Amino acid sequence: MIFRLIERDLKTKFGDFRELLFYDGRSESIALVMGNVEMGEDVICRVHSACVSGHVFNSVECECQAEMEAAQSAIQTAGRGVIIYLEQEGKGNGHLALMASIPYKKAGMKQSEAYERAGFEADARSFRAASEILADLKVKSVVLLTNNAGKADDLRRFSTIVSAIKELKI
Ligand SMILES: [Zn+2]
Repeated sequence: MIFRLIERDLKTKFGDFRELLFYDGRSESIALVMGNVEMGEDVICRVHSACVSGHVFNSVECECQAEMEAAQSAIQTAGRGVIIYLEQEGKGNGHLALMASIPYKKAGMKQSEAYERAGFEADARSFRAASEILADLKVKSVVLLTNNAGKADDLRRFSTIVSAIKELKI
């Protein structure tokens, strides 16, 4: 169960959004909404995980910042859409795991394997909150902006209707 706590208008480089804060008893999640999405079908949607290095420190070692900008731009072009920002850095393992996995990544391992070698889960993320937020917003179906088709299955597991997947061009 997720609860909508508070909301406000937010002006961005990519237009005016509504920012809504949700809490599920464990972590906060944010929805950035443009336009009227209630009862909307094929609403453009991006589910985006936290990344301190990319979003705060302007790291050039990941594409998180560029992906957020591409998603905001696509939504601005469409005139409506939803970005859901989940507090699950390091595939849900947190920033410690991210930093602890770096030596293994440098040794050539895939990110998921590097997390396991560092003593964390390969992928500890959950997309339940994202699906619950879309339900709260009364979005009927989404076109998911992602370069990872598996994310659609993650959302469908929690009853979100993903009508299509669209590549995120960065
Ligand atoms: Zn990143």
